[in-house]
Amino acid sequence: MPGTSYPTTQRRYLNDTYLYDISSTILAVEPMPPDTSAGSNKMPYFGLVIAETVFHPQGGGQPSDVGRVVGENGVTFFVDNVRVGENAIIYHYGTFQHEMSENEDGARCIPFRSGEKVKLEIDAARRRLHARLHSAGHALDVAVLRLGLELRPTKGYHFEDHPFVEYLGRLPADKGSSERLIEALTLKIQELIEEDIATELYSTSKAEAASILSGGVKDVAHFPEGAQVRLVSVGGNICPCGGTHVKSTKELRGVEITRIKTKKNVTKISYRISKEGKERQIS
Ligand SMILES: [Zn+2]
Repeated sequence: MPGTSYPTTQRRYLNDTYLYDISSTILAVEPMPPDTSAGSNKMPYFGLVIAETVFHPQGGGQPSDVGRVVGENGVTFFVDNVRVGENAIIYHYGTFQHEMSENEDGARCIPFRSGEKVKLEIDAARRRLHARLHSAGHALDVAVLRLGLELRPTKGYHFEDHPFVEYLGRLPADKGSSERLIEALTLKIQELIEEDIATELYSTSKAEAASILSGGVKDVAHFPEGAQVRLVSVGGNICPCGGTHVKSTKELRGVEITRIKTKKNVTKISYRISKEGKERQIS
């Protein structure tokens, strides 16, 4: 029920981007306000709390996974949105496949019960695409560093429609026009792809994370004292991140820089994965 405290959801996707399904236990099924938006199918909307999850919630510039949760009796719940609530509890929002029956009092009989074993399955193609789009943002940071640009990443948007990274700082005049920089950054990303650099994950204390990161303590200032910090190295550049990542930079084939725009002291670099790159099988 709303306000009830559940254990923190175990995020199984953190250690394996390519884990697409697991079995776990329903902790709660919370009815949500009806969706009254245009195009809604008006099916009752619920938020599932599950002990463990493979669903990446929306956040950190990444969209949420979608997929389904299947109960012991084959009852299917379609997950269309995943968010983090209080106490790091993850809510899986969506609808049941079929209309629910009603009991004698006219109340709906919710098909899942607390304690029931369920199977969670995500849309694997969407997961792989979003891991590549997000990891491409990390690769762009490395390309910026390798070109010696004094830009500090502040914000990432890794959705399929016009992904970008925003940096604090301006482009130096002696580095040439934005067209030449677009080409130079794309070449640096190409270099990273050819180098086939493995992604590495570390979980460490806040103090140790601060000493590892070149940016110092300000990179982890927002973590609570005593928290474990997840550090990720993509293309050899370490930063704190809770997203989903490719195993190696070689999976970023097809990433291209599309646009660079500076406004005041913020430089926005947009990128995409080419159609050919999207269709390429991950080897
Ligand atoms: Zn990341």
